[in-house]
Amino acid sequence: MQYFSTNGHAPLASFATAAATGQAPDGGLYFPESLPQHTWLQSSEWRSWTAAELALHVMQPYVGQSMPLQQLQAICADTVNFPFPLVPISPGIQSLELFHGPTLAFKDVGARFMSRCLAWYNRGSQQRITVLVATSGDTGGAVAHGFSGVEGVEVIILYPEGKVSPVQELQLTTCGPNVHALRMAGSFDDCQAIVKQAFTDAQLQQRYQLSSANSINVARWLPQQLYYFIAMQQWPPDAAPPVVVVPSGNFGNICAGMLARRTGLALGHFVAACNANDTIPHYLASGTLREQTAVATLSNAMDVARPSNFVRILQLMQHQHAQLLDWLSAYSISDATTSETIARVYRQHGYLLDPHAAVGYAAAELYLQQHPADTAIVLETAHPVKFPEVVAAATGQPVPLPASVQHLFALPSHATPLPATYDAFLQWMLER
Ligand SMILES: *Cc1c(COP(=O)(O)O)cnc(C)c1O
Repeated sequence: MQYFSTNGHAPLASFATAAATGQAPDGGLYFPESLPQHTWLQSSEWRSWTAAELALHVMQPYVGQSMPLQQLQAICADTVNFPFPLVPISPGIQSLELFHGPTLAFKDVGARFMSRCLAWYNRGSQQRITVLVATSGDTGGAVAHGFSGVEGVEVIILYPEGKVSPVQELQLTTCGPNVHALRMAGSFDDCQAIVKQAFTDAQLQQRYQLSSANSINVARWLPQQLYYFIAMQQWPPDAAPPVVVVPSGNFGNICAGMLARRTGLALGHFVAACNANDTIPHYLASGTLREQTAVATLSNAMDVARPSNFVRILQLMQHQHAQLLDWLSAYSISDATTSETIARVYRQHGYLLDPHAAVGYAAAELYLQQHPADTAIVLETAHPVKFPEVVAAATGQPVPLPASVQHLFALPSHATPLPATYDAFLQWMLER
């Protein structure tokens, strides 16, 4: 399988090259040159495969010859080694719980797959890879954990002091010795600006082989298809395909779901659930993409004004606007509705939504009002304990700590405090 750039001015790249470079050299996003058709979906055998077997079948065409099958098999098994249960919430709406991974969010899947691919492609190289990430909380934990203990790769993670939740901070600071957390006395934007500058710094490039674990990387994007396939193993074979509601920020996750449908999985209509950052709902309604700047909301992992993966959705729809509308709807949900939804769903159904899935649930309700015969799956993209203040304020009760994070509180936590300036960061990088 070869990958082309959505900007059209870069040479074709193998999966290995696309995974190692992230963005194409012309600034575009890599997209598979031809899409596989998963003919094995036509028999019912796949329904009883293990998650690892299913993952191997889905990913093999994309990874192609760039890795021996056995290696890919091991990576797949490692990527989906936790459950992805489909849980009924209310009549017509089920939750696909993607928070049972090590950092309690769906980004674990992409981060685990990508880290293991990079380690394999870099094997035997003298120089180790240094992955630099800035995080506002969620991505950093998944990336740090995904790379923790992975040979030949180290991770340096910059996070804003006092602006991530306690569980998120523990997830960033208790990983293996190859993960270094820098607690920056500044904002997330400061952290991001420092990382951006680092990638253009010749002095650092000389000393380090820097890499980004950006969400546009094909090795993070493509494995997100897996949980749609795993979900459909749990869906009754003769039931109508579900409407799939995806809390969306950069649109990587939903685009992976649409790719799964395009390559043969029987999924229904897609609903992009957005917060006040309504670039795509506005685009679908009006046909014009307007320039916007991100606004802060309660579902902060989706505070994205220019969703980078949307160009991949356009590509998947072959730039046919009518087809796009046939496949995709989008809603913008306010913070007030988000809180109200968390409170109401908890009160009426005893199910605790995180703010992102609450946006999803509210969007599902809007869609189902217009399509009452349909059934919806809402992706629960993170555990509520990652956003304890918002959830507790809505329900009036503290969020119970799941057993899977309690051990974090007993682990030694390491972070290096730094002023949020490039000079301080550079000095640390050169002196370590
Ligand atoms: C990253 C994230 C999202 C948004 O996913 P995209 O692929 O960027 O659309 C939604 N919810 C949570 C909890 C996230 O961490």
